[in-house]
Amino acid sequence: MVTGFATRAIHSGQEPDPLTGSVVVPVHATSTFAQDGVGNLRSGYEYARTGNPTRTALEAQLAALEGARFCRAFASGMAAEDTLFRALLRPDDHVVIPIDAYGGTFRLVSTVLADWGVRFSAVDLSDLDAVRAAILPETKLLWCETPTNPLLSIADVSALASIADEAGVRLAVDNTFASPYLQQPLSLGASVVVHSTTKYLGGHSDVVGGAVVTSDEELAADLARLQNGMGAVPSPFDCFLTSRGIKTLAVRMERHCDNAERVVEALESHSAVSSVLYPGLPAHANHEVAAKQMRRFGGMVSVRLAGGEEAARALCAATKVFILAESLGGVESLIEHPGAMTHASTVGSPLEVSADLVRLSVGIEDGDDLVEDLLQALATL
Ligand SMILES: *Cc1c(COP(=O)(O)O)cnc(C)c1O
Repeated sequence: MVTGFATRAIHSGQEPDPLTGSVVVPVHATSTFAQDGVGNLRSGYEYARTGNPTRTALEAQLAALEGARFCRAFASGMAAEDTLFRALLRPDDHVVIPIDAYGGTFRLVSTVLADWGVRFSAVDLSDLDAVRAAILPETKLLWCETPTNPLLSIADVSALASIADEAGVRLAVDNTFASPYLQQPLSLGASVVVHSTTKYLGGHSDVVGGAVVTSDEELAADLARLQNGMGAVPSPFDCFLTSRGIKTLAVRMERHCDNAERVVEALESHSAVSSVLYPGLPAHANHEVAAKQMRRFGGMVSVRLAGGEEAARALCAATKVFILAESLGGVESLIEHPGAMTHASTVGSPLEVSADLVRLSVGIEDGDDLVEDLLQALATL
């Protein structure tokens, strides 16, 4: 049965337990599984690094949401990325990453993978000619994020997929910011999707996790081999929390988008704000592309303050509902100063962000309270 997104989020992989009827998939807190004879496994499980039923349930749930055949879950988004890089790259290979890639991705590629002999180029993915020019004979992978962090720029996934196809390289999309509710990169031609499930998928700021999703059987088998071989697996309890969060993804994302739109409207006309970065704004450089590939425009909003760095830091200190913290995608609204917090490691690199920038992860509280909080905080500047 082909079902809608919200139905899949609640039921895919989450069937009642066949033994007890438990409506929620049990937390299989076990490291090993009894065998009925040497090598005679009861239900395919032998050791919990290799496989655990709570993890299998999460993997099936996430695959269904991205319209994919396979998913592998990991202990963090970075573990998912690292495992995918090890599956697709070898020393002397080259990868193209966005100029404003997630800071952790930049660090992984520019230090850990660089030490292993992998080379990279960082390009503006909205400039398709620059992307074509960056692809070398050794390039194996084009890495895309859209919307990006913290500038919320938009890349055209279908266009990048065509470029990748022509060049015989893979396109991977980090879909953390949009979540599968707003955007499904595999349907736009990407060959693999990565998530930090820590963010919107888990959705409650109570668990760190990651996932890789694909319909490519060979890649999926290699990911399973590396998931077991490298061992960066999530605990059964973390899988339970993530699955539990995913069940409400559709309703949460609608509310994140509603509240983000209200916040954008209030900030756009404010004299202390020099610009609002949000893909839903018609003035956004790639608004048309965002409208084509996304259901709505998400819960992340960035703003530049007319008063520069001082005003940006003061705003972060003055909100009462928005909590000053890194991370994003949870039910509670968060505010941060990327230049000094999430993106501090990019200072001096091409990925450095300007100091007048503040990033908001707009939560699902009452929209009135969020707008009022930002207005009272701006009034203190
Ligand atoms: C947080 C994040 C990651 C890394 O995920 P962790 O779960 O923190 O390891 C990767 N990509 C993006 C876009 C993120 O926001």
